[in-house]
Amino acid sequence: MKNKLIISYDDLWEGNDHWEEFEKFAQEFPDLKITFFVITGNCSEEFLKKIKRPWSQLVFHSWEHSGAWQHWTVEETKEWLLKFQEYGFEKGFKAPAYKWSDNHFKACDELDFWTCSSPTVPVRNKKYWYTYPKDGEVMTYDDYYEYYDHLQNKNFSECLDKLKKFCTEIKPEFKFISEVVKTQ
Ligand SMILES: [Zn+2]
Repeated sequence: MKNKLIISYDDLWEGNDHWEEFEKFAQEFPDLKITFFVITGNCSEEFLKKIKRPWSQLVFHSWEHSGAWQHWTVEETKEWLLKFQEYGFEKGFKAPAYKWSDNHFKACDELDFWTCSSPTVPVRNKKYWYTYPKDGEVMTYDDYYEYYDHLQNKNFSECLDKLKKFCTEIKPEFKFISEVVKTQ
């Protein structure tokens, strides 16, 4: 498992998707796996169907990015988490800006959802994954590599090219975040 590479992107929505570049990436690397954190309020139904591919994993990242999720009750959180299951979303959640509440953790545990946060913002639910918040760079750990970026990064394509070069050299074993989540 030394060669595994976890790729994830934040803030996917319709119009902030670079989708043609991702389709090309997937053609070049048939085993590719990418986890996307999706802002659902800016996505049409057709778009949500288009982005669900064998190499893409879709995870709810709230419906907007300005703060509404911080005030959800446990029940509201559960409703939001379940709403996009019909589009093949994973049982996962990333609160925008890692602004978590106990209601989120409770809802995730009750529905058996995992969370994704940063090591600098610990979570208090059972299943989780920590991504180091460094945009557009491959991070090297003892037994895996991780790449993380925002879709709105102005150097998106340049960073993607570097990532592809890395993949060509290393020939990694791609992993979705759902395949590496930890339990506490
Ligand atoms: Zn975000």
